[in-house]
Order: sequence, then structure tokens, then C-alpha cells
Amino acid sequence: MRRVVLGERFEDFRKVARVLLALQVPPREVAFAPPEGMQLGLEVPVPEPLPTPTAEALAAVRFPGALLALAETVAAHRDPGRWSLLYEVLFRVAHGERTLMNDPTSAPMLALERMRKSVQRDVHKTHAFVRFRRVEREGVEYFIAWHEPQHRSLALAAPHFVRRFASMRWTLMTPDATASWDLTTLTFSPGVTRAHAPTEDALEDLWLSYYRSIFNPARLNVRAMRAELPRRHWATLPEAALISPLVRAAPRRTGGMVRGPEPSPASYQVPVGGSLSDLRASASRCSICPWAQAATQTVFGVGPARASVMLVGEQPGDREDLEGLPFVGPSGALLNRVLAEVGLPREELYVTNAVKHFKFQRDGKQRIHEKPSAGDVHACRGWLEAEVRSVQPSIIVALGATAGQAFLGPTFRLIRSRGQFLETPWTPRWMATYHPSALLRMPDAAAKHQAEAHFRADLLQVAEAWRALPGAEAAVH
Ligand code: URA
Repeated sequence: MRRVVLGERFEDFRKVARVLLALQVPPREVAFAPPEGMQLGLEVPVPEPLPTPTAEALAAVRFPGALLALAETVAAHRDPGRWSLLYEVLFRVAHGERTLMNDPTSAPMLALERMRKSVQRDVHKTHAFVRFRRVEREGVEYFIAWHEPQHRSLALAAPHFVRRFASMRWTLMTPDATASWDLTTLTFSPGVTRAHAPTEDALEDLWLSYYRSIFNPARLNVRAMRAELPRRHWATLPEAALISPLVRAAPRRTGGMVRGPEPSPASYQVPVGGSLSDLRASASRCSICPWAQAATQTVFGVGPARASVMLVGEQPGDREDLEGLPFVGPSGALLNRVLAEVGLPREELYVTNAVKHFKFQRDGKQRIHEKPSAGDVHACRGWLEAEVRSVQPSIIVALGATAGQAFLGPTFRLIRSRGQFLETPWTPRWMATYHPSALLRMPDAAAKHQAEAHFRADLLQVAEAWRALPGAEAAVH
């Protein structure tokens, strides 16, 4: 029996599991032990160091992305048995049981799925229950919150707050770890006790406006709300005073609600910690917007799961709707030509749209493209957010104003920002340029020629930035 000392970090498990798998160590011969005993100075046998596997054996260890995504979520669960369960499943999949993951009767998969759901629920609760308090140090404003999640799920929950509170310096402390956002970088440090968090609520208003903004009247379910946030807690929660008026106003707000700071309805359908293929599968069932009924299918993004560059268009057109792929019609042909001219291989890019369903008007047999409204973009934005979270591109390019507004809000103007790299919470290098179909539609030949030159120059900047990224050279053919 090999005793492997392993802490709580998924990355450590991943490294250790790769070595064990490369050495072909069967699960029954491994015991994963936490390091606590050693830290407390208790008598524990010193584990034997693992031999080093050959580079070929290590390189041969590969897994489906969905399995790794599941493992990453389950890693946050507090059950100390999770490493053994995960290793058993990885070992069996590596030894040919490729269908194990889809077998709902398999005991380890059932146990892992139960853990995944529990972590996912915990992440949603963190998003719902964290309360930031304002503190000021040397004239700088910080927002601090203390929260006690059920699992070690802070790393999964924190990116949500980066998007929500991108322009504030905040720290979210938990007993296991602390997440801090300094306006540009999210960092993690060790956990703290409750005593470190300020108890004085210096700016309760902040939380109240946050609560107002996340309160989505279209999704109001009073019974579910009471179950999640029992009435007995209302007295101690700052937002409790808002609950009754918001509940009363909900029908009116739903009637008028097309956009706003509320979370995108699609974000409720996004599986937490899911791989890109999990996202695609969930999006294929999405029917939030009315266009889902008439469209042939959801057109989700396509490209490498860790592409460095993400291109985002408006919505699928007629051809894209039929083929289920973005940019395969006439604007795709123009895009492909210019990408080739500037040396950006399309197969290296992740290409998607702000809106995932084709919205159109029928004119006889023809289906005429109709511009998505701000409400359509908002409804779908949860998918775009999830794609960015999953792919983590270094560079994002918004093609056209609709895509620009999906990222930066309704005040974004293409004419003001076209061709400039902007630092945004989505990525430090974000650029908007023309939509290829806008070029195709320009009636004036000279204007069209000039706009195409701008489009090419913008994408050339992107190509140069992409080539300068570490590791990009290896991808240049
Ligand atoms: N226009 C877009 O914005 N996206 C597509 O996928 C095709 C046309």
C-alpha cells in the first residue's frame, strides 16, 4: 500500500494522480492521507517518495475534459474520501472503461455526482449570501466579507464577484482561503477566522444596492426564497427590509424588464465547474428566449477549449442556424479571408456569438435576420460569460456593436473604441472591430474599401498580440 500525503488543492491531486497513473498503481494500493497529522507533530509514518515515471508514460495519461471538470468541482468537497473516489474513476477510465462516466448505475460515479451537486449548491449560496462591508485604509476604499461555505468552494465562487464588483477592491475571507480582487488580479491566500472581518457595517447601502440588482423579479419564487433564506434569518440580514417591497413590485418590474444589472437568465442554467462540452450540452437545451422555438438549434461557440483568442459575433445567421456552427455563411467567408491575410489561423481561435439563437422574420420562404434586442443579449449573456470563464482567452475581439455591448454594456459605442485594446474585467486585452456583415452591406464601394482596411488593420493588431503571447509561436504553422 502506498501512502500519499495530499492536501486540499486540486492541482496537487492532479499532479499526484498523473504520476500514479503513469506508474500504473491500482486504486486499492493507494491511500490518500491529509497532511494535518504531520503539521500537528503527530507520529505518522513518513510516506515513501513516489518513483519518477518515464516522460512517455506521463505523456500517455490523458482524460476527457468533462472528467477533469467534474474532478475540479468535486475536489472542493469536504469529504476526505473524494481523492480515492476520483482516483478510482480516473484509473478505470484510463484502463479502457471510457463509458464509466456516463454510467448512472456506477457507485463511484453516483457518489461523485452527489458531491458535484453539493458543491454547486454551495457556490450558488455563496453568490447569494455574501455581504461585503466597506472599510477605508489610508484613504483607499476596500470591501470585505466573511463567509463560511459548506465546502472549499471559494475558488469556484470568486470569479462571479470579479464580474459583479470589477471596479471595487474587495476581499472575501473564508476559514479555508481568502480571495482578493485589486481591480486587475484575483489572488488567493490562506483562510482566516471570523475575527478578521469587520463587524461594523460601514456601508450597508452597498449590499442593499447589490441585492436590488441581483433580485430578478422574473424569477421570483417566494416559496423557494423562503426555503433558501428562511424567515428567521430575515431580521439579521440587511436586505431583509427590501424583501417585502421588492416582492410587491415584482410583477410591475417583470413587465418592464428587458435589461439591467440583473444576472442574465441563462446564468441559472450554466452548470458550475462544467467543461466546455457540458456548457454546450446545457445551452443546446436552452429555451429562455422566444427565438429558441423558431430556430433550428442553439449555435454555441467552437474552437480549442483553451484558445488564446476569442472572437464574438452578434448572433447566428441563416446558414449558421442550419449548420449549428458560427460564421459559416457569407460573413464567415469574409472573416476567414481576412484572418488568413493577417496570419490568424481560424482553427486556433474560439469563435462564438453574443446571442446563440437565430432571430428572424419570415418573408415567404426567406428568413430575414432581425437584430437582437438588448433584452435578447442580456438573456443569453450567461452563456457568453460561461464561455469566457471556461476558455479564459487572453484576447477577446468583439465583432460589431452588439457583441461590444454584450461585454461592456449599452453605453459602448463601436465608433469610439474600434481598433483599441481596452483593459476590461473580461480580459486585459479586449478589442472591438467591425462586424464582417456590416462590411458586406456597405453600399458605397469607397467606404467599404476603407472599412475593410480598418477591419484588416484591427485583426492584424490582434494577430501580432497573439503571436507575442507565451507559447503562441509553437502554434504558428
Ligand atoms: N453573424 C454573426 O454575428 N455570427 C455568425 O455566426 C454569423 C453571422
